[in-house]
Amino acid sequence: MSHIRSPIVLMYHGTPSETPESVYSIKSNLFAQHLRYLQKNDWTTILFKDLATPHSLPEKSIVLTFDDGYKDNFQGAFLPLLEHNMKASWFITTDCIGGHAQWLGKISQQSQMLDATQLLEMHSAGMEIASHTCSHPDLSRLSYDQQFAEFNSAKKILENLLSAPVTSLAYPFGRFNANSLPAAEHAGYSLACTTRPGWFGSENNPFLVRRIAIFSGDSPGILARKLAYADNDVSWKKIVSYYTGRVLNKLHAKVGID
Ligand SMILES: [Zn+2]
Repeated sequence: MSHIRSPIVLMYHGTPSETPESVYSIKSNLFAQHLRYLQKNDWTTILFKDLATPHSLPEKSIVLTFDDGYKDNFQGAFLPLLEHNMKASWFITTDCIGGHAQWLGKISQQSQMLDATQLLEMHSAGMEIASHTCSHPDLSRLSYDQQFAEFNSAKKILENLLSAPVTSLAYPFGRFNANSLPAAEHAGYSLACTTRPGWFGSENNPFLVRRIAIFSGDSPGILARKLAYADNDVSWKKIVSYYTGRVLNKLHAKVGID
């Protein structure tokens, strides 16, 4: 029974060595288990920007994305990735480089962000450093011009820092509106991602790339099921209903009109 479809995009946040404060973050030793699982099962990590040419990707391609740019990603994700000869893409909020995640409302060890030196080192090592806007706003509440300004300046700041083009974007909180897509394209991005779960290619739009969210309790077994079903909820109850749905669809198809 194989459900493997590729490429698929995962979304991580923080990778602290201690117990995560947020359900979206994952302890660094559990993240290392994810890497070992992926390597053992022949997944090839590619960069988010590589999805712009989906026909030239390896057979089992996976994109590991990290939102916000937490400082604990350096020890907890970047170094383990290097060790495994794997790569990943980071979506950075440029106002917070070397500071704190201002939108979280509280300052803690785990809200500290990567600094410019670390971003440069990660980029030189083959990681993708991409855009998560300047201030991490709820884009669905902003005008076209406000969104364009966020997309455009974040891109310029990162390109100046890295001396390389930045063409990927992640919408903060996964929120966007009808203006977000044209504003992102106008600002010069070629791909953008949401937080809607699903396979790459289930949205026929490069500015609506889907991602599977990883949560703090996701064991390698849960990761395996997420890769099989491209869903955030892989409880057995959900999986049983998935199969029931498939059987019903087949029955309906049989009695339906050809
Ligand atoms: Zn974010």
